[in-house]
Amino acid sequence: MLGIDLRKIYRFVPVEPQPAADRLPAGAMYYYECLDCQGIVNSAPHVAAKCVCGNLAGNAGKIVVRDPARVRVMTGRLK
Ligand SMILES: [Zn+2]
Repeated sequence: MLGIDLRKIYRFVPVEPQPAADRLPAGAMYYYECLDCQGIVNSAPHVAAKCVCGNLAGNAGKIVVRDPARVRVMTGRLK
């Protein structure tokens, strides 16, 4: 678990309209916010990262989403 609060580094904007749960976009510009624990994980994480509750877990450029319906897709830009 990466102990970094990405909100301190990035400004996140939800993607509108939100993509369907079965077609979540993936890429360096997209971040997923877990709606259960508010954790944020990049959709193509280069290092191991996961949210506190485990809904989002990624590593080596891939993310595994346990419950895609509990995800908000956002773009992130450095502040
Ligand atoms: Zn979570």
